[in-house]
Amino acid sequence: MRPIDYTRADSIAAAVEAFAAVGADARYIAGGTTLYDLMKLRVEQPTHLIDVSGITGLNTIDTNGDVLRFGALALMNEVAYTPFVREEYPVLSESLLKAASQQLRNMATVGGNLLQRTRCPYFRNGAGSSSTVGVYPCNKRVPGSGCAAIGGLDRGHAILGVSDACVAVSPGDWPVALTAMDASIEIHGPAGTRTLPISDFYRLPGDTPHLEFNIDHGEIITAISVPKTPSRSSTYHKIRDRESFAFALASAAVVVEMEGAIVRTARIALGGVATVPWRAHSAEEALRGKQLTPDLALQAGRTAFGDARPGQHNGFKSDLGARVIADALMIAAERSA
Ligand SMILES: Cc1cc2nc3c(=O)[nH]c(=O)nc-3n(C[C@H](O)[C@H](O)[C@H](O)COP(=O)(O)OP(=O)(O)OC[C@H]3O[C@@H](n4cnc5c(N)ncnc54)[C@H](O)[C@@H]3O)c2cc1C
Repeated sequence: MRPIDYTRADSIAAAVEAFAAVGADARYIAGGTTLYDLMKLRVEQPTHLIDVSGITGLNTIDTNGDVLRFGALALMNEVAYTPFVREEYPVLSESLLKAASQQLRNMATVGGNLLQRTRCPYFRNGAGSSSTVGVYPCNKRVPGSGCAAIGGLDRGHAILGVSDACVAVSPGDWPVALTAMDASIEIHGPAGTRTLPISDFYRLPGDTPHLEFNIDHGEIITAISVPKTPSRSSTYHKIRDRESFAFALASAAVVVEMEGAIVRTARIALGGVATVPWRAHSAEEALRGKQLTPDLALQAGRTAFGDARPGQHNGFKSDLGARVIADALMIAAERSA
């Protein structure tokens, strides 16, 4: 039994202060739907939990301003079922509704979702209890220990953004939709408040896969803002081993702006195939100014996987991912009619 201290913060300032007093062994906790799991698995071993779930005003959903603004403590279901979000930004709503389960989405926050860690089984189930490395080596869990997924059972692993140190997939659906929407993350810490584009929030593994997010110890996510660009013609398309309650094998968040059958702009981000929420710029370029047909959509999808580096068992993700992009493009374009 490991003792854990617990503080319930009633303001952002109190939370940041409590964290600073403990240091790197503290963790914020919001819905607790993933942190408690990781503690039971001994992957995360904080000595002090700072509960931010009661901070007033951090769960506000504001759709009336210049941007959509979601407080970090807004629940996944609250955001997904906000009528304006459902109607005008289906890509956001669908990314949330295709994640986890109703019960989890009623507990889990949209801020905590951004910081969930990979579901790589070697990372999650490998900690063990006695040795430092655990049952399996994992550079994300124990830097420098190696990667059991490379050359191991890698069917669910990444083929884009991989390194020789890590091939773990970024698990979230919501961050993929936010990447297609060019969202920003508002962060508050001891040094004040800053705003980071989501494209700068996630770190490629390189040779430091344990450093996953550009957020410092003690900083707290306060809100997520999304530009109010027209997005009715959008979708989040997710393929998984079963049709509910499963993480993506491949997913695509797509937002298109059409002029008749011509694609004026397309914004495409991918999940389930990459080490970070992956913006598919090459596919976007392949579509610009062209008439959208199923053939062109598939061709564009294929360009997204030109640099793919599959392992032993996940080569199928290139073809699956291209087809997911193609289907998502046709669904999104149909919504502009
Ligand atoms: C069985 C299961 C299936 C799931 N399936 C999916 C799925 O298909 N798709 C998907 O996207 N997700 C899925 N999830 C993950 C789920 O969406 C996340 O667990 C949830 O969004 C995390 O939110 P939370 O508020 O519970 O975070 P917590 O567990 O409270 O915290 C998560 C992390 O974020 C930190 N944190 C929380 N809030 C803040 C904040 N405001 N500022 C700074 N740090 C913070 C915590 O310290 C912790 O490190 C699944 C989870 C489970 C258990």
